[in-house]
Amino acid sequence: MFGIYAPNLDTARLTYFGLFALQHRGQESAGIAAADGETVTVYKDLGLVAQVFDETTLSGLTGNIAIGHTRYSTTGSSAWVNSQPIYRQANGTGIALAHNGNLSNTHELAARLADPGTSDSDIMTEMIALEVQNGHTLPEAVAAVAPLFVGAFSLTILDTNTLVGLRDPFGFRPLVLGKLDDAWVIASETCALDIVSAKFVREIEPGEMVVVSEAGLESHYPFPEQQTRQLCVFEFVYFSRPDSIMAGRTIHGVRRRMGMSLADQAPADVDIVVPVPESGIPAAQGYAAATGLPYTDGLVKNRYVGRTFIEPAQSMRDRGVRLKLNAMPGELSGQRVVLVDDSIVRGSTTKQLVAMVREAGATEVHLRISSPPYRWPCFYGMDTGDRNTLLAAGRSVDEIAAFLNVDSLAYLELDRLLAATGLAPETLCTACLSGQYATDIPTTTNKIALETSR
Ligand code: SF4
Repeated sequence: MFGIYAPNLDTARLTYFGLFALQHRGQESAGIAAADGETVTVYKDLGLVAQVFDETTLSGLTGNIAIGHTRYSTTGSSAWVNSQPIYRQANGTGIALAHNGNLSNTHELAARLADPGTSDSDIMTEMIALEVQNGHTLPEAVAAVAPLFVGAFSLTILDTNTLVGLRDPFGFRPLVLGKLDDAWVIASETCALDIVSAKFVREIEPGEMVVVSEAGLESHYPFPEQQTRQLCVFEFVYFSRPDSIMAGRTIHGVRRRMGMSLADQAPADVDIVVPVPESGIPAAQGYAAATGLPYTDGLVKNRYVGRTFIEPAQSMRDRGVRLKLNAMPGELSGQRVVLVDDSIVRGSTTKQLVAMVREAGATEVHLRISSPPYRWPCFYGMDTGDRNTLLAAGRSVDEIAAFLNVDSLAYLELDRLLAATGLAPETLCTACLSGQYATDIPTTTNKIALETSR
């Protein structure tokens, strides 16, 4: 998610670059909304940023303000109708909204609306538009309805003249503020600031709403209650790009520390350390550094295939593994291997990877995972589906090892994971690892429930 207020710059093109840096956060659809003081124009489609936009579509997006989004669906299907930014017309102005996260009270909010649409993001946009229709400015409208939203929502919103950034009071998902000369930039991660040469100013705080307009930047806190921060620990494990800085830590550095701690907790009598590219690389480097074992690229990744794990359909996931990764017998044959990955969610990818490493001639495969077993569904922006799809739910580590056909298996302990972040444990969400949720949670994990109820 990206937003920019820049009176003298090509905001749509800068947003395009920002989205390019944030492609890893979602690959189902991409979109940009631009505002020129009179109109709001939105262009969005299914596909990657580079597939959706070209010179012609970008040149049609003009104005001082732009927001952009790459979608990874957590509520609503991967259909075009759910691509973002979401658009509404109200009181003579266009409103566009981009959302990272997932509301946990979607169905309660939907029940308040005559036309809730097909996703939690649709609901938020509709509620804001209704307030604007009643005569409120965009910031007033956002401040009026935001306290009703529960769950994870980092938002960028614009109307014809104003850019708004909002982060939920728990701060589940990241949101940062940057400066590019006189322009203000809002982005999910600092890597998107880097790509447009914007300077990191600060994080947008949990519960904070920033408003950028002709009057400059203002900060507001529209939520009645302060909450204990609950930054998603999986931003450190998996989601974020390694070159991003979050809560003052480089993601790469934290992942490396996880690997070092894993080596200390669960050493293996092996010949080589092999990462599962790419998110397992820093942890494998840490594991190798801590043990003195050789670090070997035994698996090669095709960089042009999206993350298999976050593609919605199971059939796509199964096929995707071999499209994405290939094992190198020259590196693996005759070797006792410790394979390091960041997490196992459903397990289908990992099982196939282990088989590939064995087929390539490895004599032993010992699996080390730089996070604890993923046992509980996420309701805050990671599409993990039903609990019964999670490999570790209801299974012991020994049972998982047998299923994956590995010689040994160890997961990094939760305390060690939290210590590797260097952050106070109570400020991190660990619900998918611990079952301790910060909010009430829905009774359904059906992401297309709104669509099927229409
Ligand atoms: S439940 Fe897990 S994936 Fe979801 S926000 Fe919490 S730590 Fe992150």
